[in-house]
Amino acid sequence: MRKQIVAGNWKMNNDLEASKFLVKKIIKKLKNNSLQNTRVIVAPTFVSLEKVVKKAKKTTIEVAAQNMHQAKSGAFTGEISAEMLKSVGVNMVILGHSERREYFCETDETLAEKVSTALKNNMEIIFCFGEVLEDRKSKNHFKVVESQVKNGLFHLEASAWGNIILAYEPVWAIGTGETASPEQAQEMHAFIRKIVADKYNKEVADNVSILYGGSVKPSNAKEIFSKEDVDGGLIGGAALNADDFIELVKSF
Ligand code: 13P
Repeated sequence: MRKQIVAGNWKMNNDLEASKFLVKKIIKKLKNNSLQNTRVIVAPTFVSLEKVVKKAKKTTIEVAAQNMHQAKSGAFTGEISAEMLKSVGVNMVILGHSERREYFCETDETLAEKVSTALKNNMEIIFCFGEVLEDRKSKNHFKVVESQVKNGLFHLEASAWGNIILAYEPVWAIGTGETASPEQAQEMHAFIRKIVADKYNKEVADNVSILYGGSVKPSNAKEIFSKEDVDGGLIGGAALNADDFIELVKSF
C-alpha cells in the first residue's frame, strides 16, 4: 500500500541555527504521535543537512536535499554530488522543482540524468513537475505534465519506481496563496497515475505516492489530502512553522 507523505521543502530559508531549532521543534511535537502510515520529510539547505540528519536520527523524520548534480564529481563549481549527500547521511533528494527548472535552467534532459544518478546511488527521489498558468489557461496542462513525467522518468525500469515519489506542483499555485482546488488536484493526480499505469502496470501506478504542492496550509490540507489519488503534500511556506507543519502531518 502506498504511503501518505508530508514533506517540507524549506527552500533558501533558515540558517544552521534556525534549521536545528525548527527540526527540534518538529521532533518534539511529533513525539507522542504514532503516525503509522505517514512519512514526514524535511528538506533543509545544503549547509544544514548534516546537522539536521543528526538531530533526526532515531526519530521517524526523514531528511532530503533540495537538489544535486548529475555527475559523480569534477569541475562543477558550486555543485553537490549524490555521494556527498550520502556522506552526510542523506538518502533522498528533491529533483525537478519548478524553481530549479525556471531560475537555474534545469531541463527534462538534465533531470533524467539526475534521476539516474540518484538511483544509481540508491537514493529516493521526490520528482516535481507542474504546469504554468498559461498552460492551464490554454488547456495544455495535461500535455505539459505528461511530457515532464515522461521525459524525466520513463527511461526507468519498473523496478526503480519503488524509489520514486511524485510531486505535482502547479507553478501558478506555488507561494501565491492560490491553491488548485481539491478537484483539480485529484483530476491531475488520477491522470498521472493513469499514464504511469499505461507505461508500466497497475501495480507500479498504485504504489507510487503522488504529492500535491502549492499553497498547502492547515486550512486547506484536509480537503486536498482526502482525495483518492492525493497521497500528501510537498509544502513550502507552511513547512517553516512547526505548528503549521505538524497540523499538516495530522491532516489525513
Ligand atoms: P508553497 O507551499 O509555499 O506554495 O510552496 C510549495 C512548494 O514549492 C514546495 O516545494
